[in-house]
Amino acid sequence: MSEIELRDVVQRFHARGTPSGFLTAVQSTSFTLRSDPPHIVSLVGQSGSGKSTIARIILGLQRPSSGLVTYGGRDIFKLSRAEYDDYRKNVQPVFQDPYAIFNPFYRVDRVLRTAIKKFSLASTAAEASSLMEESLLAVKLDPGQVLGRYPHQLSGGQRQRIMLARVHMLRPSFIIADEPVSMLDAQVRKLFLDILTDFRTTYGMTTLFITHDLSTVYYIGGEVMVITRGRIVEKGPVSTVMHTPSHPYTQLLLASVPQPDPDARWTDRIDIAQATAAEAGP
Ligand code: ADP
Repeated sequence: MSEIELRDVVQRFHARGTPSGFLTAVQSTSFTLRSDPPHIVSLVGQSGSGKSTIARIILGLQRPSSGLVTYGGRDIFKLSRAEYDDYRKNVQPVFQDPYAIFNPFYRVDRVLRTAIKKFSLASTAAEASSLMEESLLAVKLDPGQVLGRYPHQLSGGQRQRIMLARVHMLRPSFIIADEPVSMLDAQVRKLFLDILTDFRTTYGMTTLFITHDLSTVYYIGGEVMVITRGRIVEKGPVSTVMHTPSHPYTQLLLASVPQPDPDARWTDRIDIAQATAAEAGP
C-alpha cells in the first residue's frame, strides 16, 4: 500500500499590492491519499482557492513554503532523481487540456511509443503496438482512427483520452486530475468520469479529482474536500457533505448553484459508440 501525505502544507507567493507583499495560496493543509482501498476524492472550490497549487505541490512541481509532502513516509522533495522518476511514474497528472504538453509534430502513435520506451513498458515493437491498442480501446478510442493523427487533428475529448490511455499503460497508483473535464461537453464529460471510475474498480487507481463544478462531484461520488481561500474547510463522503454540509462555506457553495439531481441527470450510462461518433472530428 502506498500513501501520499500532506502535512501542514503552506504556499505563499509574492504579491505586489498586498499589505504583507505575500499571498497565501494554500494555508496549513493536511490530508492523505491512500491507494488501498483505491478511492476517488474530489477537491472542490471556486477559482483561485488553491486547488492547482496543491496539485503542483503533490506532483513535485512546486516546493511549498513550509510543511511536508511524503510518499511512503519519504519527503518527495528529498528523493533522488531516480526515486522521483519512480514516484512520477506512480503519480500521473491529467490536466485540463493536454494540448500544450503534446509535441505538435508527434502523431499519437509516437506520443504513446515515447512513453512506452521511457518507462520500458514493452520489449518488442509488436508488444508496444498491442499495448497501445489495448490502452486506446480501454479509453473508448479507435486505434485505427487516432494513432495516425497529430494533436491538432483530435478533439479536446480525444486528447484527454490519449492522456488517459497513457495512464492506462503506466498503471499508476495515483492520478492527479486538475479540472480535466471543464472544457468538455456533457456527453464526453460523462464518458471521461466513467473511465476514471473504471480505472479505480478495475486497476485500483486512486484519483484526486480537482474541480469547481459540483455536478461532477455528485456524479463521480466517493469523497470530497471543500476548499476556500487555500483552506480545506470540510471533508467526508460526497453523500454526507453535499446533503448535510456543516461548514457555512459549503452551504453557500451548494446554495449558489442549482442542485444537481443525481437520479435525473446522471444515472444513464452514455452510449459510448454515440459519443465516439459525435467527436470523431475531421
Ligand atoms: P485554483 O486552482 O483554485 O483556481 P490556484 O492554485 O491556481 O487556484 O491559485 C491560488 C492563488 O494563488 C490565486 O490567487 C493565484 O493567483 C495565486 N497563484 C498561483 N500560482 C501563483 C504564482 N506562481 N505566483 C503568484 N501567485 C500565484
